[in-house]
Amino acid sequence: MLAAVYHGKNDVRLERLPIPKISAREILVRVGFCGVCPTDLKKIHSGTLEGSRVFGHETAGTIVKVGSAVTQFIPGDRVALHHHVPCLKCHACKHKCFAQCPVYKKTGITAGFEPSGGGFAEYVRVKEFVLPGVVKIPERNFLLEGTMLEPVNTVLKGVHKLGLLPGDRVLVVGQGPIGLLFTALCRILGFLPTVTDLLDERLRLAKTFGAQGAFNPAIQGVEEIMKKTKGAFDAVVLAVPSNTAVAEYWPFLRGGGKFLLFAHTLRGVECPIDLGSVCVDEKDLVGSYSSDFQLQSRVARLVFSRKLDVRPLLKNLFPLTRIQEALDLASNPSPKSLKIIIEMEEPPRLS
Ligand SMILES: [Zn+2]
Ligand SMILES: [Zn+2]
Repeated sequence: MLAAVYHGKNDVRLERLPIPKISAREILVRVGFCGVCPTDLKKIHSGTLEGSRVFGHETAGTIVKVGSAVTQFIPGDRVALHHHVPCLKCHACKHKCFAQCPVYKKTGITAGFEPSGGGFAEYVRVKEFVLPGVVKIPERNFLLEGTMLEPVNTVLKGVHKLGLLPGDRVLVVGQGPIGLLFTALCRILGFLPTVTDLLDERLRLAKTFGAQGAFNPAIQGVEEIMKKTKGAFDAVVLAVPSNTAVAEYWPFLRGGGKFLLFAHTLRGVECPIDLGSVCVDEKDLVGSYSSDFQLQSRVARLVFSRKLDVRPLLKNLFPLTRIQEALDLASNPSPKSLKIIIEMEEPPRLS
Protein backbone atom coordinates (compact mmCIF):
# COMPACT_ATOMS: atom_id res chain seq x y z
CA MET A 1 0.00 0.00 0.00
CA LEU A 2 1.04 3.62 -0.41
CA ALA A 3 2.01 5.57 2.73
CA ALA A 4 3.57 8.95 3.58
CA VAL A 5 6.39 7.99 5.94
CA TYR A 6 7.98 10.51 8.30
CA HIS A 7 11.72 9.93 8.78
CA GLY A 8 12.70 13.03 10.75
CA LYS A 9 12.49 16.81 10.65
CA ASN A 10 10.67 17.95 7.49
CA ASP A 11 11.32 14.59 5.89
CA VAL A 12 8.13 12.85 4.71
CA ARG A 13 8.45 10.39 1.82
CA LEU A 14 5.93 8.40 -0.19
CA GLU A 15 6.74 4.72 0.17
CA ARG A 16 5.24 1.29 -0.32
CA LEU A 17 4.48 -0.53 2.95
CA PRO A 18 2.89 -3.91 3.57
CA ILE A 19 -0.81 -3.73 4.46
CA PRO A 20 -0.88 -4.07 8.27
CA LYS A 21 -1.76 -7.46 9.74
CA ILE A 22 -4.41 -7.60 12.46
CA SER A 23 -4.95 -9.90 15.43
CA ALA A 24 -8.22 -11.46 16.62
CA ARG A 25 -9.29 -8.36 18.58
CA GLU A 26 -8.41 -5.71 15.98
CA ILE A 27 -9.85 -4.30 12.77
CA LEU A 28 -8.34 -3.20 9.46
CA VAL A 29 -9.70 -0.01 7.89
CA ARG A 30 -9.22 1.21 4.36
CA VAL A 31 -8.67 4.93 4.81
CA GLY A 32 -11.01 7.12 2.78
CA PHE A 33 -9.94 10.53 4.07
CA CYS A 34 -7.65 11.91 6.76
CA GLY A 35 -7.45 15.50 7.96
CA VAL A 36 -4.12 17.26 8.48
CA CYS A 37 -3.95 18.47 12.09
CA PRO A 38 -1.68 21.29 13.33
CA THR A 39 -0.17 18.76 15.76
CA ASP A 40 0.95 16.62 12.77
CA LEU A 41 2.65 19.69 11.33
CA LYS A 42 4.27 20.48 14.68
CA LYS A 43 5.72 16.97 14.87
CA ILE A 44 6.96 17.04 11.27
CA HIS A 45 8.49 20.53 11.51
CA SER A 46 10.10 20.08 14.95
CA GLY A 47 11.48 16.61 14.29
CA THR A 48 11.31 15.82 18.01
CA LEU A 49 9.95 12.31 17.39
CA GLU A 50 12.13 9.60 15.94
CA GLY A 51 11.27 8.14 12.52
CA SER A 52 9.97 6.05 10.96
CA ARG A 53 6.29 6.82 11.52
CA VAL A 54 3.07 7.43 9.60
CA PHE A 55 1.07 10.35 11.01
CA GLY A 56 -2.55 11.33 10.40
CA HIS A 57 -5.25 10.77 13.01
CA GLU A 58 -8.41 12.48 11.75
CA THR A 59 -9.36 9.38 9.84
CA ALA A 60 -12.55 8.15 8.22
CA GLY A 61 -12.73 4.97 6.19
CA THR A 62 -14.32 1.61 5.58
CA ILE A 63 -13.68 -1.54 7.60
CA VAL A 64 -12.26 -4.22 5.33
CA LYS A 65 -11.37 -6.93 7.84
CA VAL A 66 -12.37 -7.72 11.43
CA GLY A 67 -10.55 -10.06 13.81
CA SER A 68 -12.33 -13.29 14.79
CA ALA A 69 -13.10 -11.99 18.31
CA VAL A 70 -14.58 -8.66 17.16
CA THR A 71 -18.37 -8.72 17.24
CA GLN A 72 -19.45 -5.07 17.12
CA PHE A 73 -18.26 -4.36 13.55
CA ILE A 74 -18.45 -6.03 10.17
CA PRO A 75 -16.53 -5.45 6.94
CA GLY A 76 -18.20 -2.67 4.99
CA ASP A 77 -18.97 -0.51 8.04
CA ARG A 78 -18.07 3.12 7.35
CA VAL A 79 -16.33 4.54 10.40
CA ALA A 80 -14.60 7.53 11.96
CA LEU A 81 -11.64 6.73 14.19
CA HIS A 82 -10.21 8.14 17.43
CA HIS A 83 -6.54 7.25 17.93
CA HIS A 84 -6.66 7.88 21.71
CA VAL A 85 -9.07 6.28 24.17
CA PRO A 86 -8.77 6.65 27.96
CA CYS A 87 -8.95 3.77 30.47
CA LEU A 88 -11.76 5.50 32.47
CA LYS A 89 -10.36 3.92 35.69
CA CYS A 90 -7.13 5.71 36.63
CA HIS A 91 -6.67 8.75 38.87
CA ALA A 92 -6.60 11.14 35.88
CA CYS A 93 -9.74 9.60 34.39
CA LYS A 94 -11.60 9.85 37.71
CA HIS A 95 -10.89 13.58 37.53
CA LYS A 96 -12.07 13.60 33.89
CA CYS A 97 -8.56 14.65 32.77
CA PHE A 98 -8.65 12.03 30.02
CA ALA A 99 -5.75 13.53 28.06
CA GLN A 100 -3.51 12.91 31.10
CA CYS A 101 -4.45 9.20 31.36
CA PRO A 102 -1.45 6.91 30.64
CA VAL A 103 -3.60 4.68 28.39
CA TYR A 104 -4.97 7.70 26.51
CA LYS A 105 -1.42 8.88 25.82
CA LYS A 106 -0.76 5.69 23.85
CA THR A 107 -1.73 5.76 20.19
CA GLY A 108 -3.79 2.78 19.09
CA ILE A 109 -3.86 3.16 15.30
CA THR A 110 -1.00 2.39 12.95
CA ALA A 111 -0.10 1.93 9.30
CA GLY A 112 3.16 0.32 10.39
CA PHE A 113 6.10 1.28 12.68
CA GLU A 114 5.47 2.92 16.09
CA PRO A 115 1.70 3.66 16.22
CA SER A 116 1.30 7.35 15.28
CA GLY A 117 -2.15 7.60 13.73
CA GLY A 118 -1.37 6.09 10.34
CA GLY A 119 -4.07 7.97 8.44
CA PHE A 120 -1.64 9.19 5.77
CA ALA A 121 -1.65 5.67 4.35
CA GLU A 122 -4.14 3.51 2.50
CA TYR A 123 -4.85 1.09 5.36
CA VAL A 124 -4.67 1.31 9.15
CA ARG A 125 -4.73 -1.30 11.86
CA VAL A 126 -6.97 -0.32 14.80
CA LYS A 127 -5.87 -1.91 18.07
CA GLU A 128 -8.23 -3.37 20.64
CA PHE A 129 -7.93 -0.59 23.22
CA VAL A 130 -9.11 2.10 20.79
CA LEU A 131 -12.07 0.14 19.40
CA PRO A 132 -14.40 2.11 21.77
CA GLY A 133 -13.31 5.16 19.73
CA VAL A 134 -14.58 3.71 16.43
CA VAL A 135 -17.81 5.49 15.47
CA LYS A 136 -20.08 4.32 12.66
CA ILE A 137 -20.93 6.92 10.01
CA PRO A 138 -24.63 7.01 9.07
CA GLU A 139 -25.50 6.15 5.48
CA ARG A 140 -26.80 9.63 4.70
CA ASN A 141 -23.47 11.27 5.55
CA PHE A 142 -20.32 11.51 3.47
CA LEU A 143 -17.33 9.53 4.67
CA LEU A 144 -15.48 12.83 4.54
CA GLU A 145 -17.63 14.32 7.32
CA GLY A 146 -16.31 11.60 9.63
CA THR A 147 -12.83 13.17 9.56
CA MET A 148 -14.17 16.06 11.65
CA LEU A 149 -15.33 14.08 14.70
CA GLU A 150 -11.96 14.23 16.45
CA PRO A 151 -11.30 17.95 15.84
CA VAL A 152 -14.89 18.90 16.76
CA ASN A 153 -14.55 16.86 19.94
CA THR A 154 -11.40 18.74 20.97
CA VAL A 155 -13.23 22.04 20.41
CA LEU A 156 -16.37 21.04 22.31
CA LYS A 157 -14.16 19.89 25.19
CA GLY A 158 -12.50 23.33 25.17
CA VAL A 159 -15.86 25.13 25.16
CA HIS A 160 -17.00 23.06 28.14
CA LYS A 161 -13.97 24.17 30.10
CA LEU A 162 -15.18 27.78 29.83
CA GLY A 163 -18.22 27.21 32.07
CA LEU A 164 -20.32 29.68 30.07
CA LEU A 165 -23.99 30.57 30.50
CA PRO A 166 -26.45 31.24 27.66
CA GLY A 167 -25.97 34.73 26.27
CA ASP A 168 -22.33 34.96 27.41
CA ARG A 169 -19.92 36.81 25.13
CA VAL A 170 -16.89 34.96 23.78
CA LEU A 171 -13.97 36.39 21.83
CA VAL A 172 -12.42 33.82 19.48
CA VAL A 173 -8.98 34.89 18.29
CA GLY A 174 -8.06 33.20 15.01
CA GLN A 175 -10.56 31.83 12.49
CA GLY A 176 -8.72 28.95 10.93
CA PRO A 177 -10.65 25.66 10.86
CA ILE A 178 -10.41 25.27 14.65
CA GLY A 179 -11.35 28.88 15.39
CA LEU A 180 -14.33 28.58 13.05
CA LEU A 181 -15.47 25.46 14.89
CA PHE A 182 -15.26 27.37 18.18
CA THR A 183 -17.39 30.11 16.65
CA ALA A 184 -19.98 27.65 15.34
CA LEU A 185 -20.20 25.63 18.56
CA CYS A 186 -20.45 28.74 20.74
CA ARG A 187 -23.36 29.92 18.65
CA ILE A 188 -25.09 26.52 18.66
CA LEU A 189 -24.76 26.39 22.46
CA GLY A 190 -26.33 29.83 22.89
CA PHE A 191 -23.23 31.99 23.46
CA LEU A 192 -22.36 35.11 21.49
CA PRO A 193 -19.05 34.83 19.61
CA THR A 194 -17.04 37.79 18.37
CA VAL A 195 -13.99 36.90 16.28
CA THR A 196 -10.70 38.24 15.00
CA ASP A 197 -8.46 37.06 12.17
CA LEU A 198 -5.83 38.53 9.89
CA LEU A 199 -7.61 37.24 6.77
CA ASP A 200 -10.81 39.01 5.68
CA GLU A 201 -11.92 35.90 3.79
CA ARG A 202 -12.10 34.02 7.07
CA LEU A 203 -13.95 36.84 8.82
CA ARG A 204 -16.62 36.62 6.15
CA LEU A 205 -16.90 32.88 6.67
CA ALA A 206 -16.98 33.36 10.46
CA LYS A 207 -20.16 35.39 10.07
CA THR A 208 -21.82 32.48 8.29
CA PHE A 209 -20.69 30.33 11.23
CA GLY A 210 -22.45 32.61 13.69
CA ALA A 211 -19.97 35.37 14.58
CA GLN A 212 -21.74 38.48 15.90
CA GLY A 213 -18.79 40.76 15.23
CA ALA A 214 -15.69 40.13 13.11
CA PHE A 215 -12.52 42.22 13.26
CA ASN A 216 -9.18 42.23 11.48
CA PRO A 217 -6.51 43.44 13.96
CA ALA A 218 -4.10 44.14 11.09
CA ILE A 219 -6.53 46.78 9.82
CA GLN A 220 -8.28 48.05 12.93
CA GLY A 221 -5.68 47.49 15.62
CA VAL A 222 -6.36 45.77 18.92
CA GLU A 223 -7.11 49.03 20.76
CA GLU A 224 -9.78 49.93 18.26
CA ILE A 225 -11.32 46.47 18.59
CA MET A 226 -11.38 46.93 22.36
CA LYS A 227 -13.21 50.23 21.92
CA LYS A 228 -15.74 48.79 19.49
CA THR A 229 -16.47 45.63 21.51
CA LYS A 230 -16.15 47.30 24.94
CA GLY A 231 -14.16 44.25 26.13
CA ALA A 232 -15.51 42.50 29.24
CA PHE A 233 -15.79 39.14 27.48
CA ASP A 234 -16.83 36.15 29.55
CA ALA A 235 -14.21 34.10 27.75
CA VAL A 236 -11.39 34.57 25.28
CA VAL A 237 -10.37 31.59 23.14
CA LEU A 238 -6.91 31.77 21.62
CA ALA A 239 -6.98 29.48 18.58
CA VAL A 240 -3.57 30.62 17.34
CA PRO A 241 -0.20 29.84 18.98
CA SER A 242 0.73 33.50 19.38
CA ASN A 243 2.28 34.84 22.60
CA THR A 244 1.79 38.48 21.72
CA ALA A 245 -1.92 37.65 21.35
CA VAL A 246 -1.96 36.42 24.97
CA ALA A 247 -0.78 39.83 26.17
CA GLU A 248 -2.96 41.73 23.69
CA TYR A 249 -6.23 39.94 24.42
CA TRP A 250 -5.87 39.26 28.17
CA PRO A 251 -7.39 42.72 28.93
CA PHE A 252 -10.48 41.79 26.88
CA LEU A 253 -11.53 39.39 29.64
CA ARG A 254 -13.92 40.49 32.37
CA GLY A 255 -13.09 39.72 36.00
CA GLY A 256 -13.90 36.08 36.68
CA GLY A 257 -13.65 35.22 32.98
CA LYS A 258 -11.64 32.42 31.42
CA PHE A 259 -8.82 32.68 28.88
CA LEU A 260 -8.41 29.45 26.92
CA LEU A 261 -5.10 28.42 25.34
CA PHE A 262 -5.93 25.94 22.61
CA ALA A 263 -3.01 26.16 20.18
CA HIS A 264 0.00 26.51 22.51
CA THR A 265 1.13 22.91 22.07
CA LEU A 266 4.89 23.62 22.20
CA ARG A 267 6.60 23.26 25.56
CA GLY A 268 9.19 25.69 26.91
CA VAL A 269 7.33 28.84 25.85
CA GLU A 270 7.05 31.54 28.51
CA CYS A 271 4.83 34.59 28.56
CA PRO A 272 4.37 37.30 31.22
CA ILE A 273 0.93 37.67 32.81
CA ASP A 274 -0.11 40.15 35.50
CA LEU A 275 -0.63 37.73 38.41
CA GLY A 276 -2.70 40.32 40.26
CA SER A 277 -5.31 40.03 37.53
CA VAL A 278 -5.43 36.28 38.19
CA CYS A 279 -5.73 36.70 41.98
CA VAL A 280 -7.73 39.91 42.42
CA ASP A 281 -9.72 39.94 39.16
CA GLU A 282 -10.06 36.13 39.25
CA LYS A 283 -9.23 35.78 35.57
CA ASP A 284 -8.41 32.14 34.83
CA LEU A 285 -5.84 30.89 32.35
CA VAL A 286 -7.19 27.56 31.09
CA GLY A 287 -5.66 24.96 28.80
CA SER A 288 -7.40 22.27 26.79
CA TYR A 289 -5.74 19.53 24.79
CA SER A 290 -7.03 16.64 22.73
CA SER A 291 -10.45 15.03 22.93
CA ASP A 292 -12.93 13.97 25.62
CA PHE A 293 -14.08 10.37 25.23
CA GLN A 294 -17.35 11.08 27.03
CA LEU A 295 -18.34 13.66 24.40
CA GLN A 296 -17.92 11.22 21.53
CA SER A 297 -21.57 10.35 20.90
CA ARG A 298 -22.72 13.93 21.38
CA VAL A 299 -20.15 15.12 18.84
CA ALA A 300 -21.24 12.40 16.39
CA ARG A 301 -24.88 13.58 16.72
CA LEU A 302 -23.89 17.23 16.21
CA VAL A 303 -21.83 16.52 13.09
CA PHE A 304 -23.93 13.79 11.47
CA SER A 305 -27.24 15.61 12.05
CA ARG A 306 -25.49 18.62 10.44
CA LYS A 307 -26.64 20.81 13.30
CA LEU A 308 -22.94 21.59 13.12
CA ASP A 309 -22.43 21.41 9.36
CA VAL A 310 -18.71 20.83 8.78
CA ARG A 311 -19.00 20.59 5.00
CA PRO A 312 -18.05 24.24 4.31
CA LEU A 313 -14.65 23.53 5.91
CA LEU A 314 -13.90 20.52 3.74
CA LYS A 315 -12.97 21.97 0.36
CA ASN A 316 -9.19 21.43 0.22
CA LEU A 317 -8.59 17.82 -0.74
CA PHE A 318 -5.28 16.38 -1.88
CA PRO A 319 -4.54 12.83 -3.03
CA LEU A 320 -1.94 11.03 -0.92
CA THR A 321 0.56 11.35 -3.78
CA ARG A 322 0.47 15.16 -3.27
CA ILE A 323 0.90 15.06 0.50
CA GLN A 324 3.89 17.40 0.48
CA GLU A 325 1.79 20.08 -1.20
CA ALA A 326 -0.96 19.47 1.36
CA LEU A 327 1.46 19.80 4.29
CA ASP A 328 2.94 22.98 2.80
CA LEU A 329 -0.49 24.58 2.38
CA ALA A 330 -1.56 23.56 5.88
CA SER A 331 1.65 25.13 7.23
CA ASN A 332 1.17 28.33 5.21
CA PRO A 333 -2.59 28.77 4.81
CA SER A 334 -3.84 30.87 1.92
CA PRO A 335 -6.86 33.18 2.29
CA LYS A 336 -9.05 30.50 0.74
CA SER A 337 -7.61 27.36 2.32
CA LEU A 338 -9.37 25.75 5.29
CA LYS A 339 -9.14 22.23 6.62
CA ILE A 340 -6.61 20.30 4.54
CA ILE A 341 -7.64 16.71 3.84
CA ILE A 342 -5.73 13.81 2.35
CA GLU A 343 -7.98 11.64 0.20
CA MET A 344 -7.52 8.05 -0.84
CA GLU A 345 -10.85 7.91 -2.63
CA GLU A 346 -12.68 9.96 -5.17
CA PRO A 347 -13.94 13.04 -3.32
CA PRO A 348 -17.71 13.35 -2.91
CA ARG A 349 -19.45 16.44 -4.23
CA LEU A 350 -20.25 18.45 -1.13
CA SER A 351 -23.06 20.72 -2.10
ZN1 LIG B 1 -5.85 16.51 15.67
ZN1 LIG C 1 -7.21 6.58 32.66
